[in-house]
Amino acid sequence: MFVDVILPLPLDGVFTYSVPTSEEGRVKVGARVVVPFGRSKTYIGIISNIHHQPPEGYQTKDILQVVDFSPILLDTQLKLWQWIADYYMSPLGEVYKAALPSGLKAEDGYKPKTELCIRLAASFQNEQALHVALNMLQRADKQLKAFVDYLSISGWDQGSPSELTRDELLNQGHSLPTVNALVKRGLLETYEKEIGRLNHGGEPHPEHIKPLSPVQQDAFNQIQFSFLKKNVTLLHGVTSSGKTEIYIHLIQQALEQKKQVLYLLPEIALTVQMMDRLRRVFGNRLGIYHSKYSDAERVEIWQKQLSQNPYEVILGARSAVLLPFQHLGLVIVDEEHETSYKQQDPAPRYHARSAAIMLAQMFGAKTLLGTATPSLETYHNARTGKYALVELFQRYQGIELPEVQVVDIKDLQHRKMMSGPFSPILLNKVREALERGEQAILFQNRRGYAPVIECKQCGWVPHCQHCDVSLTLHRHLNQLTCHYCGYTYQVPTECPNCGCTQLQTRGYGTEKIEAEVREIFPEARIARMDLDTTRSRQAYERIISDFAAGRTNLLIGTQMISKGLDFDKVSVVGILNADTMLNYPDFRAYEHAFTMMSQVSGRAGRKGKRGLVILQTKSPDLPLIRQVVQNDYMGFYRSLIAERQQFHYPPYYRLVYVYLKHRSDSLVETAGIEMASRLRQWFGARVLGPDKPAVAKVKSLAIRKLILKLEMGLKMSEVRQYLALAQQQMLQDKRYSSLQIYCDVDPL
Ligand code: ADP
Ligand code: ZN
Ligand code: ZN
Repeated sequence: MFVDVILPLPLDGVFTYSVPTSEEGRVKVGARVVVPFGRSKTYIGIISNIHHQPPEGYQTKDILQVVDFSPILLDTQLKLWQWIADYYMSPLGEVYKAALPSGLKAEDGYKPKTELCIRLAASFQNEQALHVALNMLQRADKQLKAFVDYLSISGWDQGSPSELTRDELLNQGHSLPTVNALVKRGLLETYEKEIGRLNHGGEPHPEHIKPLSPVQQDAFNQIQFSFLKKNVTLLHGVTSSGKTEIYIHLIQQALEQKKQVLYLLPEIALTVQMMDRLRRVFGNRLGIYHSKYSDAERVEIWQKQLSQNPYEVILGARSAVLLPFQHLGLVIVDEEHETSYKQQDPAPRYHARSAAIMLAQMFGAKTLLGTATPSLETYHNARTGKYALVELFQRYQGIELPEVQVVDIKDLQHRKMMSGPFSPILLNKVREALERGEQAILFQNRRGYAPVIECKQCGWVPHCQHCDVSLTLHRHLNQLTCHYCGYTYQVPTECPNCGCTQLQTRGYGTEKIEAEVREIFPEARIARMDLDTTRSRQAYERIISDFAAGRTNLLIGTQMISKGLDFDKVSVVGILNADTMLNYPDFRAYEHAFTMMSQVSGRAGRKGKRGLVILQTKSPDLPLIRQVVQNDYMGFYRSLIAERQQFHYPPYYRLVYVYLKHRSDSLVETAGIEMASRLRQWFGARVLGPDKPAVAKVKSLAIRKLILKLEMGLKMSEVRQYLALAQQQMLQDKRYSSLQIYCDVDPL
């Protein structure tokens, strides 16, 4: 008997091992096995296939051990993994690495959490013996008190003892030596008890589900109806229209049909508020899964999902799509436009939205994509009938969408009327809001203090030694940081070029915005939300809950604040500089800019009154700016989709980027040219490049990029074969032995 095994290695395909006769009854598809690899290594792999076909050309080794009695990878899950590996041209081993918590990949990686408990020694578990015990302690006051306390808290004096942890006893004011003395005397004994790490959400409360308004009900009905005909439905609903309330109704309905639900969110910033909202209704039927959870917690969720009583609703970020599901009935992809659904690095570079749709299809389940600003791809699919479309254009309780005022900062700069990055009107409106006890949000999509420092005299700018980018000043930490590789540098006191000691900052990051705002509004209670202030889960949650509760009233942040946070009293939102988003060298720049500005604006005026957005830009006449002001999604869609068609971009063409990386720039240059010519033999003019990307060196590796623009009719299985072959041929050349080549399919 042979088994094919997936190994956690960046290698293509599966590896075949033989099964010793003694183990034949124990191997199962989806179970883990320990296998030898290479000369001396062992790995934990997962069986993907059992067969009787000896592989050709090499002698198989035996598996060493079967780890699991029952599979930890379910059939449909394996199918999804295989789809991801295929479609995104990524080794199955990489999918395995991304999907499985480390605790399940290492031989002794996962340790159950235990607590030290304390109990009455067996020989004293009768009344007579207890009297003896109490007598023994007549002269040991502290021990006697502790012992009596133990008897009463644990319920021995009532005749119905329950488990007690040692900490619970110590918390009564007894010292550790006292308790230890009782153990030493043989009256009490300690033992380890296994406890779960999972939060117990309490009983579900379906009665907390809010009744839908008539327009929401109508949308809900349309969604249900659409599911009869289509597998995927787009719910295009403006911010604050109550999409989440509709999701909750749909989830409840799926649960009543004994189905599981996967609710995907792009980032954990969102999960805090969403978690509260869902937990109030679904209690302990809800499980939460994302990367900020500890590995051990993730192991426990994984195991629970394999058990007899899995969570029925999983709320999670991207990787939750890789969890085991037993009877999935509904997938919700909230904020479907979010680019963080796509994994960038490392492989597998998969899009969780696409993977979720595939997963749902494999289960015969339905997918609902929800957003106020659909991605062009999704909207196109909805318009062409591939997906159903349901629209919701009213905010809940008829609250108006915010008024967007455009401020021409180029003009104001000319007239010397800007205070740093702030226009007078923005400062006025923020001041008024704060005076009225309302809140304001300022959005600047750049973290750190300043993106660049430069020598005042000669213009020298410090760059990263490992990457082709300038360094960001973080003043609070007093260091320069590379945002590409994370390397930090001391802030120079003088220019190494000309010796000048005057180094000035250029541009604004959130940290500098915060510093200036603190000077302008000394009374304001200010918080900043960006990658630097939210390294821990607690920090995130605190910033959000402080702002939600009004303990802070002015929030400064990067795109993190543009996510579906729902705050009641935000009356003013300032977009400090639209141009950085518009000038980004990427064909999606305008799409992202529109989405970002619309989403940030959506934070304004949620309850009670119409909000105000101050949009600062140097290009106020751009059609895109007008579309943001008028909340004109259709206008935006029409102009961009025409461009996409004309210039052969998605959704009309499929893109594959091929990256080449090597320490030597000249080698990667030659390799790029050679790879391009190999690819052109098959793909002809569909191949563009090689080009140097905007950041042409990262982590000491020089980069070249090839672009493949593939018409939709092309057979992807053949495309993949050609690409893999070209890659193989390149790597056979000795010069290129340390060259890295990889593909990014449907890049964002
Ligand atoms: P969206 O997800 O579309 O941005 P939400 O579901 O967050 O909108 O709704 C915005 C706000 O309005 C939330 O505070 C939500 O609780 C409230 N809301 C929406 N619909 C209802 C409803 N039917 N009953 C009570 N409150 C609602
Ligand atoms: Zn200088
Ligand atoms: Zn760097």
